[in-house]
Amino acid sequence: STQQGPRLAVVTGAAQGIGKAIASQLIEDGFDVLIADLRGAAEAARSLGSKAHGCDVDVSDPAQVQSMVDLALSIHGRIDGLVNNAGIYTSLKKKPFEEISPEEWRRVFEVNVEGVWHCCRLVSPAMRKAGTGAIVNIASASVAKGNPLLLQYVASKGAVLAMTRVLARELGESGIRVNTVSPGFTLSDGVMSEAGQREAQRAGAREARALHRDLQPGDVAGAVSYLLSPRAGMMTGQNITVDGGMTMN
Ligand code: NAD
Repeated sequence: STQQGPRLAVVTGAAQGIGKAIASQLIEDGFDVLIADLRGAAEAARSLGSKAHGCDVDVSDPAQVQSMVDLALSIHGRIDGLVNNAGIYTSLKKKPFEEISPEEWRRVFEVNVEGVWHCCRLVSPAMRKAGTGAIVNIASASVAKGNPLLLQYVASKGAVLAMTRVLARELGESGIRVNTVSPGFTLSDGVMSEAGQREAQRAGAREARALHRDLQPGDVAGAVSYLLSPRAGMMTGQNITVDGGMTMN
């Protein structure tokens, strides 16, 4: 950013898990952060100190997203970074694609795809006016792998990856960068709160990676931090996969 003064980033789904780790990293990087979530945003903001602000929002509801943007702009009059991290994943039950109900399919797309679109289109006026800004969309390494039994989820994240490329070209006209970060299986709060904590999946993932260890939310935050920094000034439309080398590109 060429602008002076305190920088503000909005991170959706940041009350816990990968989003909270991203918020924490961005505060360390010098941003003020608006933690936006369906639930728990105020509490998470309190735990991250005076540079964190909380906002209740359902990213699938455009009116609520507009209120989130208004709140973000009320802090420093600017939005330098947007991280579209909110997503339905840890609450999904794996099942054959024939057994997914149309309602389940639609809700995943409303949040994971339309939510990203709403956040981008309602934040873009402020970024375009400033002539700068950066957006990171959280997709998933499952798009590259074609993970079975989660068709609605993998399809939604494939859409996020494709949207990033279109948005990078449209917003590039205004000097705004848009990139994707695709995490592998990460031990987020959502994953760790599940019964059994997926021990078998964790062991399998460690084995399949070039780096044989668990993937933590902070590992993902590092890539987001870079993409929102001036060091990534000529990075746009790209995808950074953070999966310990399970997939390679
Ligand atoms: P999590 O379940 O721990 O946290 C997700 C957060 O998003 C929650 O706080 C939840 O309240 C919030 N959220 C859900 N729907 C929302 C909505 N409509 N509006 C606002 N907030 C909403 O999940 P996580 O594992 O930290 O995942 C974060 C992101 O990373 C998701 O987009 C997920 O798909 C993606 N991801 C996760 C993994 C993984 O293995 N954990 C892997 C690849 C990608």
